[in-house]
Amino acid sequence: MLQLKPPLIMNTSNNQIGRSPLSFPLDFKLFRYLRIVFIMVASLILGTTVASTTVASAQEGHSHGTSRAIEFPDVNGFFSLTCDFHMHSVFSDGDVWPNIRVQEALKDNLDCIAVTEHLEYLPHKADIPFPDRNRAFDLAVSSAAKSELIVIRGSEITRSLPFGHANTIFITDANPLVTENAVDAYAEAQRQGGFTFMNHPNWTSQRKDGVARLEEMNLTLIGNGQVQGIEVVNDITYSDEALEIALAHNLTIIGTSDIHGLVDWQYDVPGGGHRPVTIVFAKERTQEGIREALVARRTVAWFKSTLIGREEHVMPLIEASLSIKSAAYQGDTSILHVQIENTSESEFTLSNTSIYRFHDRADIVVIPAHHTVEVLVKTGPRIPDLELSFDVLNVVTAPGQHPNYKMKVTI
Ligand SMILES: [Zn+2]
Ligand SMILES: [Zn+2]
Repeated sequence: MLQLKPPLIMNTSNNQIGRSPLSFPLDFKLFRYLRIVFIMVASLILGTTVASTTVASAQEGHSHGTSRAIEFPDVNGFFSLTCDFHMHSVFSDGDVWPNIRVQEALKDNLDCIAVTEHLEYLPHKADIPFPDRNRAFDLAVSSAAKSELIVIRGSEITRSLPFGHANTIFITDANPLVTENAVDAYAEAQRQGGFTFMNHPNWTSQRKDGVARLEEMNLTLIGNGQVQGIEVVNDITYSDEALEIALAHNLTIIGTSDIHGLVDWQYDVPGGGHRPVTIVFAKERTQEGIREALVARRTVAWFKSTLIGREEHVMPLIEASLSIKSAAYQGDTSILHVQIENTSESEFTLSNTSIYRFHDRADIVVIPAHHTVEVLVKTGPRIPDLELSFDVLNVVTAPGQHPNYKMKVTI
């Protein structure tokens, strides 16, 4: 995506200006001000109540406090590496020096980033002339030298339709990718061993209806092995159609920030938000390990506390994240107190599909990241064990499809 819009935070104030309060009569303005004061006071009171409720319901098992580290448990012998393969600096149309991208990634405790400047769009070139298209990568690498962060070389091939934008990562030299014809750029990327994925196929500057679809050219590139993945998530957008394309054409599912401004502002990290990432299930925590996993399609995108991926990849992640911490009958009742622990970075939203009903809620159980939640289960008679089953609503395996997760409970 090109940076065509101001950051989200500015859109809000623009909208307020757009409402043009001067056009309202004075008494209406007074009413609005009083209403704002009322809302602020009410928010303060409600905020305090909600905060204390959250602490109370979290109960014991709150193992992890306010850390922003984006971490997921390893699964099935694979490292769950958190990666952001799409971001910009002033070396194309981003707002920051590349070392800020590294520092943001370190704050998020990411395993890997790729700073992917546009090859064909350099709005800061007059202020920052540079002959070498690898410059942002070199600066990011030196900035990350004393850390564990893996920095991958990449570029954004920035073309109009039928190509659209695409990131190619693991290339060895960005300069030869500056070509007259887009086809040559894709061929060069492949020659260098690049892993290439379609960017924001739902971008409204190229798809007014926000619907991702493939052109004949995209199909040709996929057929040639010159496109191997697709962004199902880009910045603040998600695409069911891109997910369908990934599943239909066996492409790697990718989620990226495509950050141009600051991660903390764009995703309200201080308020509990997070940047989108791709969770890569790698055999080793190296560039080659990540590359092998991407080619093998072993990824899950994480976006607004939603996990998007193939069933074979999301199920082990759910299993590694959720567990029964304890289960016991209270007093002489047959109401079972079941504690479900979530050790992952993502909140989970579960919808009850078991034969049992609950005593303390309807059918939805929300378990915040790194929290334990107690659910009161009406088992009828007292029984030694049972099976709870849930549709995991914040996990998507295909448009509108959520996996079912069964948990064995032994009392
Ligand atoms: Zn783009
Ligand atoms: Zn971009």
